[in-house]
Amino acid sequence: MRTDVIIVGAGVIGLSVARELLCRGMSAILVDPRQPGMGASWASAGVLAPQGARPFHRPYLDLCMASRDMFADWSAALLAESGIDIEYRTEGGLQVAFDEEESEELAQRYHHQQELGLPVDRLNSEEVRTLEPMLSPETRCGLFFEGMHQVENRRLVRALVAAVKGRGGEFLVGDPVIDLIVRNNRVTGVILPDGRIGADRVVIAAGAWSGLQNWIPGLPLPVEPVRGQIVCVDGSGFPTVTRVINGLGQYLVPRRDGRVLFGATVEKTGFDTSVTAGGLSAVMEHGLRMAPGLAGAPVVETWAGLRPMSKDGKPILGPSSLEHLVLATGHYRNGILLAPLTGRLVADLIATGEVPEAMGPFLVDRFKGNAAQEDSKTRLDTAARQDSAARPKQ
Ligand SMILES: Cc1cc2nc3c(=O)[nH]c(=O)nc-3n(C[C@H](O)[C@H](O)[C@H](O)COP(=O)(O)OP(=O)(O)OC[C@H]3O[C@@H](n4cnc5c(N)ncnc54)[C@H](O)[C@@H]3O)c2cc1C
Repeated sequence: MRTDVIIVGAGVIGLSVARELLCRGMSAILVDPRQPGMGASWASAGVLAPQGARPFHRPYLDLCMASRDMFADWSAALLAESGIDIEYRTEGGLQVAFDEEESEELAQRYHHQQELGLPVDRLNSEEVRTLEPMLSPETRCGLFFEGMHQVENRRLVRALVAAVKGRGGEFLVGDPVIDLIVRNNRVTGVILPDGRIGADRVVIAAGAWSGLQNWIPGLPLPVEPVRGQIVCVDGSGFPTVTRVINGLGQYLVPRRDGRVLFGATVEKTGFDTSVTAGGLSAVMEHGLRMAPGLAGAPVVETWAGLRPMSKDGKPILGPSSLEHLVLATGHYRNGILLAPLTGRLVADLIATGEVPEAMGPFLVDRFKGNAAQEDSKTRLDTAARQDSAARPKQ
C-alpha cells in the first residue's frame, strides 16, 4: 500500500490537513486507533475566540485571527461538500465580571485589546443584561467581543470526514501508527501493528498522544494531555443565554438545538478521561452562578477530553529534523479555531517545500537547546499560572 501523504491521527487537525491535500490533487490516508474525530475534537466546546479568554500576543494572535477569518468560507465549502451545516455562528461573545478583582482584570483587558486595535466594547451591568437578560443580576460589567464566534464541533468533525471521503481520502481505523519507516534520515512510511504503508510524506497530527512515541530522534515532542470536563444541559424552555459567555474562569456555550455546555476544567491528570464528581460540581457551580435560570435544566450528557498542550501552549507546526516528516500538533485550547489555517499551511508546505511565513514562529526548533528550553519553560510556567488562575476550585 502506498500514498502521497499519511496522516497520523484523524482529529480536526488531521482531517483539515487531509482535505487541503486532497483539494490540491494529492492522495492521503488517515490512520487512527479510534473512530475519526473521537479525541479532543469531539469533546471540545467549539468556541472560536482569537482574542482569547485570556490575552494572546502576536504572532499567535495573528495566527488565531487569520484562522477565525477562514470560517465563513470554510463552513460554506464544507456544507457544499458534505451536506452538513457546522452551525457557524457570529453573534459575538461576552466576558463578564462578578467582583472588584474581575472588573479590574476586564478593564486591563479592554485597554490591552484597544492598544492592539482589536474590536471590543465595554459594557456596564445594565448593558450586559440588556444583551443577555438571563445572566445573573450579580454581573458587574462585561466586555463584548464581536469577533468571538462558534461552531458545533461534532458536526464539524462529521462534515470533514464526509468531505475527505468525498474527495477520495482513505481512513484506516482501529490501529495506531507504532513507528515510522526511516531511510537515510528520510521518512518513507509508517509501521502499523500488522503491516506497513509507504508514503512520500507523513504528518503527525496525533493530538495529546503526539508526545508518546519518539518520532524524532533526540527530541521527544513536548506535548502533554490536559483534561477538560464539560456538562451539557437541555436549556429549552429555561431562561438561558444566547451567545458564548466567559466568566469565573469558565464558559457557557449555547447550541442551536437548546443545549447549553458548561465548561470546562483544566487538569493535568495524564491520559485519564474520567468525568469526576469534583470536576462536574466545579463547572456547574460557576455556570449556574452566571446563569441561575438554568438550575432546573436536565443534564443530558457529561464528557471529558484531552487537550494537546505543547510546552508553551502554542501549536507545533512544520518540518522536523527528519526529512518528509511534518508536524501539526499541540493546539491546546484552540485546535478547532486553528484547524482551517493549520490545514492550509501544512498543505502549502507539502506542496511547495517552502515553510510558509505564518508557520515560522511555530516550528519545533523553538524547543531545541538549553536557551530555548529555558525560554519555553518560562512561558510554560506563565501558561500554567494563567491556567491555574482559570481553573475551577476542586
Ligand atoms: C473540553 C475541551 C474544550 C475545548 N474547547 C475548545 C474550544 O472551545 N475551541 C477550540 O478551538 N478548541 C477547544 N478545545 C481544544 C480542541 O478540541 C483541540 O485543540 C483539538 O481538537 C485538537 O485536535 P487534534 O486533531 O490535534 O487532536 P484530537 O482531536 O485529539 O485527534 C488526535 C487523534 O490522533 C489519534 N492518535 C493518537 N495516537 C495515534 C497514533 N499513534 N496513531 C494514529 N492515530 C493516533 C487519536 O486517536 C485522535 O483521534 C477543547 C478541548 C477540550 C478537551
